[in-house]
Amino acid sequence: MSEIRTRFAPSPTGFMHLGSVRTALFAWLVAKKYNGKFILRIEDTDRNRLVEGSVEHIIKTLRALGIYYDEGPDKDGGYGPYFQSQRLDIYHQFAKQLIKIKRAYADPYSSDEVDKFRQDAKLNKKPFLFRNYRPDSSAEWHIGMPLRFLSDPKPYTWEDEVMGKLSAGEEAVDDYVIIKSDGYPTYNFAHIIDDYLMKITHVIRSQEFIASTPKFLNLYEALNFTKPILATLPPVLSSDGKKKLSKRDGAKDILEYLDEGFLPESIINLLASLGFNDGSTQELFSIPELIEKFDLKRVQKSGAIFDEKRLQWMNSHYIRQLSIDDLFVQFNNFWPPEAKNFDDQYKKKVLKTFQDRLKFGQELTDLSLFFFKELPVNSNLIKDHKQLSKLTNDELKSLLKISIDELTKTNFNLLDIQSCLNSLLLKTSQKPVVLFSLIRIALTETSSSPGLAETIEVLGKEESLKRINTLLETLA
Ligand code: GLU
Repeated sequence: MSEIRTRFAPSPTGFMHLGSVRTALFAWLVAKKYNGKFILRIEDTDRNRLVEGSVEHIIKTLRALGIYYDEGPDKDGGYGPYFQSQRLDIYHQFAKQLIKIKRAYADPYSSDEVDKFRQDAKLNKKPFLFRNYRPDSSAEWHIGMPLRFLSDPKPYTWEDEVMGKLSAGEEAVDDYVIIKSDGYPTYNFAHIIDDYLMKITHVIRSQEFIASTPKFLNLYEALNFTKPILATLPPVLSSDGKKKLSKRDGAKDILEYLDEGFLPESIINLLASLGFNDGSTQELFSIPELIEKFDLKRVQKSGAIFDEKRLQWMNSHYIRQLSIDDLFVQFNNFWPPEAKNFDDQYKKKVLKTFQDRLKFGQELTDLSLFFFKELPVNSNLIKDHKQLSKLTNDELKSLLKISIDELTKTNFNLLDIQSCLNSLLLKTSQKPVVLFSLIRIALTETSSSPGLAETIEVLGKEESLKRINTLLETLA
């Protein structure tokens, strides 16, 4: 078999949502599985929709996730240019060829006239097809006029790698604009020429192109191109499973997830799970495993539900798997400003106390603050505590006092701190939920924090005793 070549062909419109990055991932996985090539092509022919900085944004996102392209804007593989806007001559050449064989013609109508045709079709209760209004003779085409494909209507049945057998009647085939009056090609034309010239073997893309596929098939025939393998990915749905995921459902740009401290491995696994499973119950895959197991035939037809909780679960998993040194590098941006005077050793210890509980990196900023700064006493933490609120001030004070006495006598290593805390339970006849909560509040002034003994160990003797004393004095 010839070399497998897949492509990701985004339009640079400013946003890299889950669905588009999933398309890139699946196309990349197919290429990698067969030792083929993955190509990045920028589809920038719709000049009104261009957003500055998008191309950099797309490239940055792919790189951050490790979805490296073999050919693309800054990586020539002999099939460039990889920006459609730099390929206008190529499209015009093919357009002229179509004119020559009488499969394309200049569209002489104004948009008002086309609107009239549309209304006319509506009045006659017929679907609007441009080909029913094809001009008898056509003027010579020049830039400034749209150029239309002259279709050869017929019904089609075709095989989609994911969706299976699809079919459409001849009403799905129409004369469509291939070159706009500004001289730029439409997507419907340019991608067909590019896929052909770039020797793309698999066109992997989202649902919205199914309806136009018969038109594309008609054009492949007119140009005498072999049709590539077509694979349509299922839509990504919001968590209720009812509608297509949109920004309104909280779907973020992939770089935003990365900026919040979601690890690339988690994002890749989440994206893979949006439509793919290997038939087993395995939920998390390493990249080599994904490459080995991925198969378009195993991509589901029905919509795939996006659930941010699942992403968090995956991320917690990968956070727990990393060594502290690696995690420290990954999350170095998330320390609160107060941490700047503390050394890396201390920060790594702090990070270790949180490793089991972090869902994403950004949580670290608030959660870890108390390790770098004594927070003001918040009397509500005791007032709102179910058990502590039942104790009198004197009872609270005596619990704090005895804690100070016992901790003062302790060597500050984890084991000793643990046994000191246990003996405090015996001495005070209190339950952990009472005594430990009180000490925790004194140390952290927050309602949730890592294990108590670990917290005491990292804060150190002096700081821990000082903080317990602060609460004691406040209560006095
Ligand atoms: N430029 C199209 C888009 O961004 C690409 C569709 C395709 O992959 O063919 O939706």
